[in-house]
Amino acid sequence: MTATTAQERPQDVPVSGKADSPFGWHARTKEDTCTALGSGPDGLRHDEVARRLFVHGPNELPAAAHLHPFRRFLAQFNNALIYFLLSAALAATVLGHAVDGAVIAVVVLVNAVVGVLQEGKAERALDAIRDMIAPHAVVVRDGERHTVDAREIVPGDVVVLEAGDKVPADMRLLRARGLTADEAILTGESVPVEKRDEAVAADTALGERLPILHSGTLVATGQGHGVVVATGSRTEIGRISSLVGNVRTLTTPLLRQINEFGRLFTWCAIGMAALVFFFAVLARGYDWIDALMVVVALAVGVVPEGLPAVITITLAIGVRRMAARNAVVRHLPAVETLGATSVICSDKTGTLTKNEMTVRHVVTTGGATALAGSGYAPEGAFAATDGRAASSDPARDTLVRAALLCNDARLVERDGHWAVLGDPMEGALVTLAAKAGLHQETERTTWGRLDEIPFDARHRFMATLHVDPNGTRHIFVKGAPERVLEMCTDQACGGGTSAIDRAYWRERIDAAAAEGERVLGFATIAAGPDIGRLTFGMVETGLTFLGVAGFIDPPREEAVAAVAECRSAGIAVKMITGDHNGTAAAIARKLAIADDPKALDGSALDAMPDEELRRIVEEASVFARATPEHKLRIVRALQANGHIVAMTGDGVNDAPAVKQADVGIAMGRKGTEAAKEAAQMVLLDDNFASIVAAIREGRTVYDNIRKVITWELPTNGAETLCVIFAVVIGATLPMSPIQILWINMILTVTLGLVLAFEPSEPGVMRRPPRRRDAPILSRFLVWRIAFVSLVFMLGVFGIFEYALRRGYGEDGARTMVINMLVVMEIFYLFNVRYLHRTSFSLAGVMGTPAVLAAIAVVVAAQLLFTFAPFMHALFGTAPIALPDGLLILAVGVITMAVLECEKAVARKVWSGSGNGDGRSGLAEA
Ligand code: ADP
Ligand code: MG
Repeated sequence: MTATTAQERPQDVPVSGKADSPFGWHARTKEDTCTALGSGPDGLRHDEVARRLFVHGPNELPAAAHLHPFRRFLAQFNNALIYFLLSAALAATVLGHAVDGAVIAVVVLVNAVVGVLQEGKAERALDAIRDMIAPHAVVVRDGERHTVDAREIVPGDVVVLEAGDKVPADMRLLRARGLTADEAILTGESVPVEKRDEAVAADTALGERLPILHSGTLVATGQGHGVVVATGSRTEIGRISSLVGNVRTLTTPLLRQINEFGRLFTWCAIGMAALVFFFAVLARGYDWIDALMVVVALAVGVVPEGLPAVITITLAIGVRRMAARNAVVRHLPAVETLGATSVICSDKTGTLTKNEMTVRHVVTTGGATALAGSGYAPEGAFAATDGRAASSDPARDTLVRAALLCNDARLVERDGHWAVLGDPMEGALVTLAAKAGLHQETERTTWGRLDEIPFDARHRFMATLHVDPNGTRHIFVKGAPERVLEMCTDQACGGGTSAIDRAYWRERIDAAAAEGERVLGFATIAAGPDIGRLTFGMVETGLTFLGVAGFIDPPREEAVAAVAECRSAGIAVKMITGDHNGTAAAIARKLAIADDPKALDGSALDAMPDEELRRIVEEASVFARATPEHKLRIVRALQANGHIVAMTGDGVNDAPAVKQADVGIAMGRKGTEAAKEAAQMVLLDDNFASIVAAIREGRTVYDNIRKVITWELPTNGAETLCVIFAVVIGATLPMSPIQILWINMILTVTLGLVLAFEPSEPGVMRRPPRRRDAPILSRFLVWRIAFVSLVFMLGVFGIFEYALRRGYGEDGARTMVINMLVVMEIFYLFNVRYLHRTSFSLAGVMGTPAVLAAIAVVVAAQLLFTFAPFMHALFGTAPIALPDGLLILAVGVITMAVLECEKAVARKVWSGSGNGDGRSGLAEA
């Protein structure tokens, strides 16, 4: 990318100023526009593109600026607890406890810095991911089509668009066929508007400039191409707002809930602190400065200040891990929802199958022909199904020609390897033609194409109009075979035609589909010499059926494993496809989607009331010949049954269903921009297995958040209980406020953060999905937090009493207490790492490198805390003897044993007590 900015860029030479002035490209003729922009049907030359890119700069809008780190730093202080702490620091200083005051202030500062660093880290993780799904566009340069990064588009570029594409820059249309655009982002009008290639009057309003396509709008239907008139911030959308770059917020429903919870907690803490203050002064006769310190200790102890930051990090790490598995999350809340997914509705072609198609059979009235060869390499002979050389068949010849001409794909050879540009199925047809001796370029030039009706999942066919070398015009149609059969009255037979035998064809189609072959039908009709444009009326009836082709498209190996994983994880898989019922069912069986996959035709849904559909969606696992509207109804029915639905989509018409789903998933490769905009997640490799990997990560993230909370809250619980207990019995505090701050800080940024990085627990995909409304803390976890707090408190007071009796002064006893608490937290960490099983296993005891590193840091910090003189001065600590250190370790080991027993027993109790819903069971515990 060039580093120049708008100000220092040299003024553009050929297009000088024009794109900026409101003089209306919409009022100019195509020729005039092209001349003014120095472009033409063949597009720009590559060197000219490079020059213009330098002159005009990249085609992008300035990104929304991130919050400046200093502002973010200040934002950390905008929190009631911090105000409270800072006031306490001030009060302590004024009252002569200057060291305490300074320590509190430093701890608050350190906390803010850590917060800034953590948020920055999370944001960077998300930014890196945004670039992975940057939009692309098809341009014509030097007469050839290229797919380029939309940022590299320059004025004068010729851009080719079809339904579902996002318009990459402001363009003047040179050709439009059935083109409509959704301009809602510019005009607010949600109904797509029609676009034409003829000029309109100069004073036409923005919304009615028919020949102009605006950057950022979506092509809803049709196809066309146009020449770019403005890029980057000179486009209409760039003028309206200079920062559109989707602003990402680092928040999710769960995080909001926790923040609210945190605020509530803070106020409770402050209220409780006031109560304790009066109790201490009035009933226990504390000196009021001491009472103030007690109150500060309490407030600091109660509030888990580091928790939201650690949870944000956990989510960001989840997003990063998902991206590493080819699932790019566009909206952070999807990370949470993914873990609760109970049904995945998936496309078949390309997601569950490889989408590497090969034509296996061609059937005409003359009989079936088998094809040898594999992949797209044009080698392999035609043979009769019994293996003898295929006899000549004029119907088959016409079919093969139709297959090549009614086709937008191109085959290219790169280092001996054949690849398709375009749709893989169409690519397979080009290969078929090559095997029959038809050369793609030659044939397509001699049989020039005049017009076409593009394929659409709704009408399921494609038609093209051609003129042959003798000047005769022909229409070729290919599409779903039943659909094409409906259009035909004759069938090609030898060199002539005969009345169509639909029963014969149906039987052939069903037989091929039952083998899992994808079947396509072909037809043709002659057109009059004056026909230059195709309409639906011309192909409705009277066509001659040529025959069918059967393709194999094997299931992806990894999809088989992923489907099995889903089934063990209690996630249902539904295949929703535009393909034939028989084909879809055969593939579903190969994938073992269900024990005996029940397949249903989409058309059967049309007559079905919603009530019945709700029942059917549970039973059926394959929906064939389904349209995007069916997808929408299926999602709604599943959601009405209480499911959390993940739905894939690629076409422009899939957008409503993808939006409606709890987790909308778009295909990164074959998906349209329209589907990606509607989706919460984009699959870079279009692979079903990546969805399942993302769900696994989603579950892990949720587990880890629960672990962070379950681990962190008992520290706060124990501290609070200790302070209250001490005041109630009128004893000395076993910990000073700044010591409590020390524990919270040192533990959260080390051990707490480690839990954010925890790998998946074994068996994470062997439990049922969690319920949508399941609270983040199940009764089991609430119980644990209470129980562990109590155990910790007992440990603390026990050690405190012991130390005082051993003759340690208050400082030494408090030092032992802090060490005790830290040691118990370390052991408890090992316990929490496995919420669903015992931690007494080799892997459980070994930990992970992250765990061990964090422990090393904590131990080093505690050694300093206990033995370094400057720490003694700051925190009022004192050294302790080795045997007492060992005693602390021993108590830690005992605590661990107690907690493991409790986990084993309590898990049985709480999961056996029935949570109202059989599905939750273990997952909730
Ligand atoms: P899928 O769910 O398998 O992706 P599609 O909606 O893409 O299904 O296609 C549905 C049916 O439409 C296919 O089974 C095929 O018969 C037909 N079809 C698909 N692509 C084309 C095309 N490019 N031209 C003509 N017909 C097509
Ligand atoms: Mg498809």
